[in-house]
Amino acid sequence: MGSNKYKILVVEDESNIRSFMRTILETSGYQVLTSGSCTQGRLVFSSHCPDLIILDLGLPDMDGLEFIRSARETSEVPIIVLSARTSERDKVEALDMGANDYITKPFGTDELLARVRATLRNSRHGMGSTLPGGKFLSGDMEIDYDKRRVYIGGNEIRLTQTEYNIVTFLSEHSGKVLTYSTIIHAIWGDADTGSVKKLQVNMANIRKKFGSKPGQCQYILNELGVGYRMQEENERGDET
Ligand code: CA
Repeated sequence: MGSNKYKILVVEDESNIRSFMRTILETSGYQVLTSGSCTQGRLVFSSHCPDLIILDLGLPDMDGLEFIRSARETSEVPIIVLSARTSERDKVEALDMGANDYITKPFGTDELLARVRATLRNSRHGMGSTLPGGKFLSGDMEIDYDKRRVYIGGNEIRLTQTEYNIVTFLSEHSGKVLTYSTIIHAIWGDADTGSVKKLQVNMANIRKKFGSKPGQCQYILNELGVGYRMQEENERGDET
């Protein structure tokens, strides 16, 4: 990575978590800026233009959601939200507001670094800004966007139009958790009361066709109470 380090802003009021993250991230070659409050975080954000923000939602001076809302008015900087295990609604709200991913406390070193790498990689690819074309490969699953076909281990998986649209949408955002409402909005337009059920039914069928037992789908992860995440695309040989 040389001198061209990624700059990460950590906004977290608990000093032990803050220094834990600083140590891990610096050891992995990132430059780290920290703030203990929303107000200070905003100042650091606007003066240092970080490449990524890790944001605790429970901050003393302001709700972390407020930080996301104001950041998104001017910036597409990737934001990973930190939240307590019990606050599913906060996560969903943060993601719908434009956060890129979340980490549930308590978290380990490996998880933190994996999320950071994936989020930086996704944002570098200009996620969602390009039309699907060519192919998507994750493990032994292949999506051929031109032919609108999905294969696993070389065998074609017959999907309905809706199922295919869901799989494709998840693949375009692979590695990132998508909330129920984000997926529903993309597939059916506006959500109605039956939408989540409809999505879950389609998802169950997709998983069945993909040959995975409930809770064991290796291609699409079920983020309970939040949404779904497709496993990241295989690393390409030509990627720098
Ligand atoms: Ca906190």
